[in-house]
This record gives sequence, structure tokens and C-alpha cells, in this order.
Amino acid sequence: MNKVFDVVIIGAGPVGIAASAHAKSNGLTPLVLEKGSSVGSAINEWGHVRLFTKWSYVIDKEVEKILNKHGWEKPCFDAIPTGRELLDQYLIPAASSKDLSQHISYNAEVIAIAKEGHSKHTTHDRDKMNFVIHYKDAEQDVHILSTKAVIDASGTWSSPNPIGRDGLPVPGEIKNSDSIEYGIPDVLKKDRELYQGKTTLLIGGGHSAMNVGLNLIELQDSSPDTKVYWGLRGENLDKLLGGGLNDKVPARRKLGLAAQSAIDSGKLTLLPELTVKRISAVEKSLKVEITSNGCNSHIYVDKVIVATGFRPNTQMLSEIRLNLDEVVEAPRGIASMVDPNAHQCGSVPGHGAKELAHVDNNFYIAGMKSYGRAPSFLMLHGYEQIRSIVAKLVGDEKAANEMRLTFPDFANEKQHCSL
Ligand SMILES: Cc1cc2nc3c(=O)[nH]c(=O)nc-3n(C[C@H](O)[C@H](O)[C@H](O)COP(=O)(O)OP(=O)(O)OC[C@H]3O[C@@H](n4cnc5c(N)ncnc54)[C@H](O)[C@@H]3O)c2cc1C
Repeated sequence: MNKVFDVVIIGAGPVGIAASAHAKSNGLTPLVLEKGSSVGSAINEWGHVRLFTKWSYVIDKEVEKILNKHGWEKPCFDAIPTGRELLDQYLIPAASSKDLSQHISYNAEVIAIAKEGHSKHTTHDRDKMNFVIHYKDAEQDVHILSTKAVIDASGTWSSPNPIGRDGLPVPGEIKNSDSIEYGIPDVLKKDRELYQGKTTLLIGGGHSAMNVGLNLIELQDSSPDTKVYWGLRGENLDKLLGGGLNDKVPARRKLGLAAQSAIDSGKLTLLPELTVKRISAVEKSLKVEITSNGCNSHIYVDKVIVATGFRPNTQMLSEIRLNLDEVVEAPRGIASMVDPNAHQCGSVPGHGAKELAHVDNNFYIAGMKSYGRAPSFLMLHGYEQIRSIVAKLVGDEKAANEMRLTFPDFANEKQHCSL
């Protein structure tokens, strides 16, 4: 008979790794399937970016116990790491430890999940059936394995929002995708050649866009012919640029001052209330037809960077009976807590297995993906989700229902909550 895992965890990001540590310490045999070739593959793509919370807010307690057993050289908990430091000083040592390494498979991309022998509409004996996980390896060969429970911690990094304000790609966006980057390209180092001396349209006003914006402005210092258009979907420029010298948050003060000086010297053009209507290739440039501040015009650029957030990919879950809110695409039990229309980052109450439950028992979405389209996820919340879910899986209802998340002071982080 084929082996049946206690729990399969999808994704070896910080939340997936925390899930494997909690599962192990509760006597379960976990298997983590990670599509990348190493731990934290999504974070690796934004390794050059500094987080907005300090070390003490990004470390899971069970993972810390494992690291301590193996003589971990603790970082200074009050410092704020970059994504790269989070990998090198936390996730890589944890994932390569004797305790966890045997439970992680890399180059294993989950493509579908179902109930054994039961498609979505089949109800008879459904709760008794194990889950089947279909995943493909580096050679694109598909494998199937069975498990009693699933924690989907696959994040949202691979499904960025498109350019359209209506949530859809604008005409020409897909056709010209070679010149369009999503997320946070490393414009100062790895991707420098693509941006220096070029004209770039950056779209977005959250933490990710601010990072790219600051870096593009810095790039202009050594390469003055680098031009930047910065398109904001909102009208409130103060929100992005802060109060310049008066802004209490250092990163925003820095951005505000740098942006103002770039605007004054004509190297940066802000496009408030931006709507992109069409993108077309004209010779070696992109012609971008826009409305900004209610006026129609067009600009020519070499590259477009889209930093307008992410959404969950639920395609691989199409055979699972979910309980997702139709607006936020988060589990219904937390949707109203995380809905960006109604709350600020840091104000999400602790929550666990009960709030994250779906119609199919023993299936959970945790981590960044559990917040659906809401941009405000914090690792601390993910670790508490995992503690509660694993307690529920081992039948410890009391621990599953307890809330152990202690709220740090997020006063400064609130400003950076929109990715
Ligand atoms: C720039 C940036 C800065 C951030 N700063 C902070 C911060 O300061 N503090 C904070 O608390 N949070 C921060 N966050 C938010 C969040 O905590 C992080 O995104 C965190 O990495 C989320 O962890 P995760 O494990 O849920 O997802 P991820 O880190 O995205 O990990 C998901 C993993 O799943 C893998 N995967 C995806 N699909 C599949 C599949 N089909 N099969 C197998 N594997 C798959 C991916 O390769 C990836 O390794 C930040 C996010 C960004 C983007």
C-alpha cells in the first residue's frame, strides 16, 4: 500500500517551514513540497528588499527551538533584516537542519489537490477519504501522493495583480510582457542594466513600489539619463511621499525627500490617479496610453514595473470544497478581519484553525495566501495560524482555540502594510 503522509505542506516559505516544525514537534510526519530549488524561493526574488518588521517579528518559536538545538548564531532581534538575511540567517539554517531537511522536497510543484476517488461533487464518504496531491518534478513528470491533511502555504508571489484598475490585464499588457516586470526588480544590482539610462513607468504606491521607486531614484545619481514616471492609483500624493522632513517614519522621509528632489530636477514625473488604457510596442519603446488626474495622454517608456499587489491562485484547489469570501478571496472566517476596505495592518486579531476552516475537513490555507487579496499579512499571524492548525490536526481542541499571539507595537509598521 502507498504511504499516507500525516500532513502535506505546500510551499517552503517562512510559514511552510514553521508548519513543518510544528507538525514534527507534535509527533506528525510532514512533507513539504516546494516548487523552487531551495527554501524561501519567493523571498529569494526580493532578497534585496529590507523588510518592514524587525527580526523578533519574523521568527517562529518552534523553528527557533530547532535552530537553537543546532547552535544557531542569533541575529540581533531589534534589527530589520533584508529578505536575503532572512534566508541566510533563518530559513536556510532551519531547512537544512537534521530535523527538517528530510521532510522537504524541492522542485516539486503542486498542480492539483483532490479527495481520493472523489471529485468535487461527490459527497458519499467524502470525509473518510484522504487527499491526493498531484505535483510535478523538475523534468515535468507528474507524481501523486496521499495525505490525511493539507496546509497550503504557497503564498501569492507567483500571481501578481495585472495593470488594469478593474483587476484585468490592459490591452497589450500580455502581448508586451517581455518589457513588463511584476514585483520588485533589483534595479540597483542584478537588473541594473535593464533600467539604467532607460525610461521606466513604475505603477503602485505600497511598500514594494516605494522600494523600487527609491532605488530608481538612487540609480539616477550614477546614471542621470535614467527617467522615471511613477503612476499612483490613488490621488493622495502625501500618502506616498509623506511629509518630507516632517515625516516620522525614516524610510518614508527618505523617499519623500528623494522623490521631491528628483521631481524638481525633472527626472521623476508623478502620475496621480493613473489609469493605463493600452500598451503597444512602437519601434523599440512601449507607448503607454494613460489617464492621469482626469487628463488623457500617452508616454513612451522602455520598461514598466507593476507593483500593485498580489492575489491567491486557487486553480490547483478547484476539486476542494473551499469556504472563501468572494470579495477578499480569504477564508470566510477571517475575511472581514483582513478586508483592506475596513482595516489597517497590525489590527488583524489573532486567529487559527476555526476561522481558517473550509468545507473539506483537514484542509487549510495558511500564510500570505490565507489573506487572499488583502495586502496586510504578517509572518507573526501566519505562525499563530500554524500553531493552531497543527493543534487541531492532533486533536488538541483547547490549544487550537486558544489565541497566543501577543501584539507587538506596530505603530511604525502600519505605514508599510500595503505591499
Ligand atoms: C517585499 C516584501 C516585504 C515583506 N515584509 C514583511 C515584513 O517585514 N514582515 C512581515 O511579517 N511580513 C512581510 N511580508 C509579507 C509576508 O510575511 C511575506 O511575503 C512572507 O514571505 C509570506 O510567507 P509565506 O510562507 O506565506 O509565503 P512565501 O514566502 O511566498 O512562500 C511560499 C512558497 O511556496 C512556494 N510555492 C508557490 N506555489 C507552489 C506550488 N504550486 N507548489 C509548491 N510550492 C509552491 C513558493 O516557491 C514559495 O517558496 C513582506 C512581503 C514582501 C513581498
